[in-house]
Amino acid sequence: MRIGVFGGTFDPPHLGHLLAATDAAEALALHQVLFVPAATQPLKAGRLAGASPADRRAMVELLVAGDDRFSVEPMELERGGLSFTVDTLRALRERYPAGTADLVLLLGADAAAQFSLWREPGEIRRLAEVVVLRRGEGSAAPEGFRAVPTRRVDISSSEVRERVRAGRDIRGFVTDPVAAYIARAGLYRQGSGHGAC
Ligand code: ATP
Ligand code: MG
Repeated sequence: MRIGVFGGTFDPPHLGHLLAATDAAEALALHQVLFVPAATQPLKAGRLAGASPADRRAMVELLVAGDDRFSVEPMELERGGLSFTVDTLRALRERYPAGTADLVLLLGADAAAQFSLWREPGEIRRLAEVVVLRRGEGSAAPEGFRAVPTRRVDISSSEVRERVRAGRDIRGFVTDPVAAYIARAGLYRQGSGHGAC
């Protein structure tokens, strides 16, 4: 079995995430892709927080609901604190001992560019095959990584948050259940920041 591991802040999860995971699953013959929301991403730790961990988890659940290729792995949220991918891969390796599954870590190009700053990059590469999701034609993968082409979907969580803050529509950027959740919970509106510092 081949299992993709797709980490992120998912604040909120959007159609770019979904299509990237779909393209990667097909290109890499993955049986499952685990979406792994981070508690706090070490390299994003200084940023203003958006939605709470519970809301981010709920939104990722909604994004992948009903699609048996995808599931949400909440271990980083349950662990809390800074989320280090090496810890997550070690835990997954315990769940799926060597020989039972291949782990394939999916990295967006922006994540790949910072990979050398991550904790124990060598150990990460021992635990999993690291694959960079190339967005469209123009983007090159950093040297030394396997790259897989994914279609270019020019959506970011930042843009979705900005649109909500500006009172603009986010249908078409996120799935309808995620849009409904954001509206119902009042996320990303001015002054609704979770633990903003
Ligand atoms: P932000 O705007 O807050 O940085 P984001 O949209 O980049 O958010 P993340 O949660 O940081 O979302 O992304 C998780 C992973 O998904 C990262 O590896 C990132 O590179 C990748 N990713 C994000 N947006 C896209 C997209 N539109 N297409 C393909 N991959 C994406
Ligand atoms: Mg990003």
